[in-house]
Amino acid sequence: MRLKRKTAYKYIFFLFIIFLNFSFAPNNEELSSVFQIPKFLNSKITDGPYLFIQEDNSIVVKWIKGNRLVKKKIRDNNYEIIQRKTGLPVDSEFLALNQIKTLDFKQEYKNVKKFIALSDIHGQFDLFVTLLLQYEVVDHNLNWNYGANHLIINGDVFDRGDKVTEIFWLIYKLEKQAEKQGGKVHFLLGNHEIMVLNKDFRYVNEKYLKTSKLLGLTYDQLYSENTIMGRWLRSKPAIFSINDILFSHAGISQEFVKLRLTVEEVNKRFIHLDYDLPKDSIQMFLEGTNGPVWYRGYFKPESFNEQKLNRILSYFNKDYMVIGHTTIPNVMSLYSGKLICIDSGIKNGEYGEVLVYENGKFFRGTPYGSRIKLNTYNL
Ligand code: ZN
Repeated sequence: MRLKRKTAYKYIFFLFIIFLNFSFAPNNEELSSVFQIPKFLNSKITDGPYLFIQEDNSIVVKWIKGNRLVKKKIRDNNYEIIQRKTGLPVDSEFLALNQIKTLDFKQEYKNVKKFIALSDIHGQFDLFVTLLLQYEVVDHNLNWNYGANHLIINGDVFDRGDKVTEIFWLIYKLEKQAEKQGGKVHFLLGNHEIMVLNKDFRYVNEKYLKTSKLLGLTYDQLYSENTIMGRWLRSKPAIFSINDILFSHAGISQEFVKLRLTVEEVNKRFIHLDYDLPKDSIQMFLEGTNGPVWYRGYFKPESFNEQKLNRILSYFNKDYMVIGHTTIPNVMSLYSGKLICIDSGIKNGEYGEVLVYENGKFFRGTPYGSRIKLNTYNL
């Protein structure tokens, strides 16, 4: 009887998770058109800046002010003009065209004492900032205040919300500021980054479709290889690790391990990916339902268990895995604490949590600043 009740709870828990995620399913065009009610169609928008790199390496800045397109060519490294016109605190150092250094595809970070990780922000700039302020990752001027510690954005900044541009520029700035202090900002590719770059605009907020129209471009072209932000996105990994913890947006499947894929190879593929070219079978796998940006297998108890997770973790020689992508009510862990799920619904703009890591211990961090022991569900 007791066992039956436990099994019933288990299925209720999974049904709840499936319910939370139902509008997230791929190829669900009908649902998305029902739920994506255009909010900005008739209102005036302000958005940007988008920085386009010209053939002679000069930059043209474009932004939308009250539905009007404004353009400005930057001459003689006069980047200060961007700040004056757009309020964006950028300087030439941030925008150096050779910003993308030799890329490290292995993405293995050791001896990190403290980090904050959050996921699936989906344009919810205000809640994102609230959480960063609460854990003193930034100060009140939104500058890096986290010293040599790490901040992890576990993918999915694009889509749904209407402050995507603001989030990207803040992450971009914090990344540069953190580096100066020996800290680090990690941005991981999520399925929504891949969707936008693949010209799948099903979840794009109406505001950005309007921006694109005013710029005479498609939304992905605002993030093309000849833009500052597009180049930055194309330098980001899909998998990385800190100490004994493996991070990916959605998780690593058994199929991934069967293919004997490595972190290095996968990151190399995503970073060098030309989104306009046809994809080979490995790339199709990586962008598909068993790949690291879409996988949801851990939440299907009929086909997954702790032994399987152990085998996946030992393939990478890691003890823990952190994932976002599948929305759960709060940051929690599954499978004896080895799988930590951090997509706690920031996308709805009302409530969301961070994962706090300090000296080998994990906590839930709420928007009110409380630090709570992680609940572990053993399924
Ligand atoms: Zn996702």
